[in-house]
Amino acid sequence: MNETNLGKIVVGGNHKDIIYEIMPNGCHEVTSHAANPHGYYKIRIGKKTHDIHRWLYQQETGIDLKGLDVRHKCDNNKCINMQHLEHGTRKDNVNDMVERNRQYSIVTPDIVKEIIQLHKTGLTTIDIGNRFNINRTTVSSIVNGVTWSHITGIKYANKHRKSTPHLRYIIFDKATQKWRVMIDDGKIRKSLGRYITQEEAIIVRDRYLNIS
Ligand SMILES: [Zn+2]
Repeated sequence: MNETNLGKIVVGGNHKDIIYEIMPNGCHEVTSHAANPHGYYKIRIGKKTHDIHRWLYQQETGIDLKGLDVRHKCDNNKCINMQHLEHGTRKDNVNDMVERNRQYSIVTPDIVKEIIQLHKTGLTTIDIGNRFNINRTTVSSIVNGVTWSHITGIKYANKHRKSTPHLRYIIFDKATQKWRVMIDDGKIRKSLGRYITQEEAIIVRDRYLNIS
């Protein structure tokens, strides 16, 4: 394992950092925490144990996830790349899992290039998936630039990240009704706390980034 392919998320408190490996397809696979028998990676915060991808997603987006699932668009349970996660209803997730169970092929850069060409000819993601024995979600992740973007050059537009550039790293946390500063440079993710006003959060962020 090459050290340059590792990323770290500082959890804070006396919790251990989350370490992940950055994979060729863009997945961030957890290496610091273990999975339960169902294959879900867990993190213990205080007295509660959480699914690590779900916990991070909540931290990042501030979305109230009650009654919602956070699922992997990349079909990789180890993955904690925010760009590969989205929230949805439980029904969405079950439909996804049914498809996922049919998946038994491995995607390679050559297959990725072929998928892009076929998609340009107008073939549906389902047809393409059937051709390569992979599921539709995997195909749509590729054609939308969620995964393998370094091969395809497709830039993913995340519908959940609507923050304007001047508010980068600042998220409104609905649960606490505060402005949260979350630094994420692709390698290190670090929370700098929650603030009552947006102005305070901007000052904290700018101080960290040395912008005056
Ligand atoms: Zn992923």
